[in-house]
Amino acid sequence: MDPIRIELPTGWSMGSVNAYLFTHPEIILVDTGDKAEDAWEALVDGLAAHGVAPRDISRVVITHPHVDHFGSARRIIDESDAMVWIFEQGAPWLLESSTLWEQRANYYRDHFLPRTGLPAETRQLIVAGNEQLRSMAVSVPEERIIPFRAGGELHMGGMGWQIIHTPGHASTQTVFYQPETRQLISADMLLAVVPVPIVEHPPAGRRDRDPALPQFMRSLAALEALEVDRVYPGHGRPFDDHRAVIARQRERIESRKAQCLELIREGKSTIPELLEIMYSHQPPVGRVTGLWMLVGYLDLLIDDGLVREEELDGVSRYYPVPDRP
Ligand SMILES: [Zn+2]
Repeated sequence: MDPIRIELPTGWSMGSVNAYLFTHPEIILVDTGDKAEDAWEALVDGLAAHGVAPRDISRVVITHPHVDHFGSARRIIDESDAMVWIFEQGAPWLLESSTLWEQRANYYRDHFLPRTGLPAETRQLIVAGNEQLRSMAVSVPEERIIPFRAGGELHMGGMGWQIIHTPGHASTQTVFYQPETRQLISADMLLAVVPVPIVEHPPAGRRDRDPALPQFMRSLAALEALEVDRVYPGHGRPFDDHRAVIARQRERIESRKAQCLELIREGKSTIPELLEIMYSHQPPVGRVTGLWMLVGYLDLLIDDGLVREEELDGVSRYYPVPDRP
């Protein structure tokens, strides 16, 4: 059977989030919406429209541990015998959620944000936004979690879905691909618009973070190679022609990256200067998304060897790498 889309409200500007329901041979829900009461009510109604109640669910599968995708997992397992299935690398975000959120907050506050050179007020807004996300995370007890590996398969709707690790928007994100029916549950990896490459704190034992947008580009290429007839995204309506969507996104990213390089060649060397020009269409308080994208373009340019980063008085500066003869 095909996944049944249940659209749930979120408190965020991106609008709704999708959960996907399989009713046969067992009742499986992929992603849950956030923990807010209106999202829960919409989920209960959406399930009821297919003759299902939360207590009937036997498996909750999470694409990635962001609060809009797993916020109601705890409530579902409290009302049912369901187990929560999630990629092994994402499981800690369900288990030790407050520890990890604290690590991220510390990284933003003490390392990442000071180096951006952004004013204290903007930095506080970003830390406060992170704090709000943390408050929406509800942990899941270990005995109710079944971690899965990339490269394996999940059985949903009577078919085998390949588990593909697609870092970029979240380092722990997985998508599910059904090769016979050519369906892709694409989470927030492939949406109609480019998802935000969120800056994450470095993995344990490492000093540097993983650059998110370069990872996203590689994940995009991996999805482009798949034969897909129908995409079931984490937000928005299902769509087909995934290659056209991917081509459009790549073109957009390439052109913004080129614009960023041009500005650096003109002598703009700091994040606040670049943000001011490239995101002038957004009000200063709403530029967090812009910041994540800009950091992504800079990561790509550094990866390409076109730009180098230098720290001056604790703030990152970006300079063009001269063309070698
Ligand atoms: Zn999402």
